[in-house]
Amino acid sequence: MFENKGRTEIEQLGEFGLIDHLTKNIKLTNKTSVKGIGDDAAVLNFSNKKTLISTDLLLEGIHFDLAYTPLKHLGYKAVQVNLSDIYAMNGTASQITVSIGISSKFPLEAIEELYQGITIACEKYDVDLVGGDTTSSKQGLVISITSIGYADEKSICYRNGAQEGDLLCVSGDLGGAYIGLQLLEREKNIFLDNPQIQPDLEGKDYIVERQLKPEARRDIVDALQLMKVKPTSMIDISDGLASEILHLCKQSDKGCNLYEEKIPIDPMTYDTARDFGIDPTVCALNGGEDYELLFTVDQKDFEKIKNNPDISIIGHMTEPASGAHLISKSGIVHPIKAQGWNSLKPNEE
Ligand code: ADP
Ligand code: MG
Repeated sequence: MFENKGRTEIEQLGEFGLIDHLTKNIKLTNKTSVKGIGDDAAVLNFSNKKTLISTDLLLEGIHFDLAYTPLKHLGYKAVQVNLSDIYAMNGTASQITVSIGISSKFPLEAIEELYQGITIACEKYDVDLVGGDTTSSKQGLVISITSIGYADEKSICYRNGAQEGDLLCVSGDLGGAYIGLQLLEREKNIFLDNPQIQPDLEGKDYIVERQLKPEARRDIVDALQLMKVKPTSMIDISDGLASEILHLCKQSDKGCNLYEEKIPIDPMTYDTARDFGIDPTVCALNGGEDYELLFTVDQKDFEKIKNNPDISIIGHMTEPASGAHLISKSGIVHPIKAQGWNSLKPNEE
């Protein structure tokens, strides 16, 4: 799991030595970052903007499995998961803090890899690492990231703004991260049964990457701004389309009609789901971790978004009393139920 670079015990460095080692090359690039790592608190300046803050906790064995997750990818993903929440508010992400709990099974080299992934994500998304905390844990790895960003008050998108008649839209494609996880779990189990057999993930890059190395959709936030479209409501898809739609409906006090045939599913996701005997639509509805954006726009914006290849219109909002419905490919109407998997392992559902 850890790239083979020797093993330096963290005890040799001590807490301050470790923090210094991990953070010595970190530079601030955003003008909103006044003071970063090194004092008791970071200092930020958002002038006349509203500040956005979101946090996530990731526990080894619950949220990630180091049997098939390279630490570099884990660091990268942990940042993406957090930035996604800032983008879902239609904001700009500008800083993160990273707190880690490490058990003695992790050498310095492992934590270096984790930080490599974190730093690559920060550089790519123009985010400054401005602080954190470091502690030992009895068992396993704990990562908590807080993301900080900003937005003009009038451009913030809440979950509660959807109106009757609004178009329901989603970025990218869905279900890939879930089916990628099924594949990784299967290969892990084969390997555990017979360590002679090497994992066979050939040709499955896309879905494996969807699981291990998701990208938060800053590009969609930018595209919407360029098109001068402000979503009436928005949420990121961490627990599956069904659960997120229900959040928008509940908080906006609206119903919705979602059309199965409109749900964007990548061909590899589709075929692999079929191979597993899972309905691809179920992957999209209930599989998690796609980190796409789900949002509603006023019908007057239809012309502006209709030709964007990264945005699919999958339904529309209705009056609250009609409820949230999925219209299947054969025209059958099903109530949408949330089976968001949250931290549940899919195999245990
Ligand atoms: P304190 O005693 O105030 O918690 P620490 O000694 O833990 O301070 O941290 C010193 C500095 O290093 C602070 O600026 C803190 O934000 C930063 N820091 C600590 N741990 C990490 C980490 N894992 N990643 C990034 N920055 C960290
Ligand atoms: Mg501390």
